[in-house]
Amino acid sequence: MPDQYGTLYVVATPIGNLADFSLRAIETLQQVDLICAEDTRHARTLLQHHGITTHCIALHQHNEDRAAQGIIEKIQQGMSIAIISDAGTPLISDPGMPLVALAHASDIKVSPIPGACALIAALSASGLPVSQFSFLGFIPRTSSARRNLFNEKKNNTESWVFYESCHRIADCMNDLASTLPPDRIIAIAREITKMHETIVKSSIQDMLALIETDSNMRRGEFVVMITGAVIDKKEEELTEQQLKTLKALLQECSIKTAVSLAVEITGVRKKLLYQTALELSSDNQK
Ligand code: SAM
Repeated sequence: MPDQYGTLYVVATPIGNLADFSLRAIETLQQVDLICAEDTRHARTLLQHHGITTHCIALHQHNEDRAAQGIIEKIQQGMSIAIISDAGTPLISDPGMPLVALAHASDIKVSPIPGACALIAALSASGLPVSQFSFLGFIPRTSSARRNLFNEKKNNTESWVFYESCHRIADCMNDLASTLPPDRIIAIAREITKMHETIVKSSIQDMLALIETDSNMRRGEFVVMITGAVIDKKEEELTEQQLKTLKALLQECSIKTAVSLAVEITGVRKKLLYQTALELSSDNQK
């Protein structure tokens, strides 16, 4: 990392309450030479609130591929630059990835200034098991694509989380209710850190009823969290068709490839497919 290079700071901003902004985030934004903001007008409210007067330019999903090289050159000339998004942590369902990737490729130091992130805040207050989870970002907008996704995920044993808009939350809940068992526990975090913050944990069927009857539950910003499936190990085995698929794949590919293809095709857990594949291939060698 050449000494004369500046640093690229990835700075988290509040997701609702303007006070959720770390001292280090404020100091960093005051000290850098330039701030790249997803929306400069939106950023101004936050920056003015905290007395930050640093020059701001726009870096959003429509210009970031083009603008990234120019920003990298400025950092190579010694400027330190911060990137912020409209809310929360940049790059998390927000712009910034091309710039950060290019900074790494250009031997530039990238330093995070951590802070609010809707999915982490939501999980922390959800009451769901969160030691392992997968984050899906924004999910598809059409019902059929959503149901396909939920079908793929429904046997996941870890919790899964996604962002959803108020325009689709009711349809999304309907799709969850028709794809997953109605008693599966889910949580919704709505308007986190804002006046109407609501965190609810319930079965899918109760959540659907709540969202359908309470119009407030269809307003604002949402994080949806689903508890992983509880697999009864004694009952867990492949169906005849799944076994047939795995056997056919094993005849054509390596165990590793056959198992990953079988996961895609059947939606069964990788571990179970892998164990079965090992058993099948050792039987064949006898
Ligand atoms: N980068 C942000 C982060 O770190 O969370 C996420 C940005 S993404 C464009 C915006 C989505 O995040 C919203 O549509 C909503 O699903 C979720 N979100 C952001 N702020 C939220 C809040 N205060 N309460 C609930 N969800 C929120």
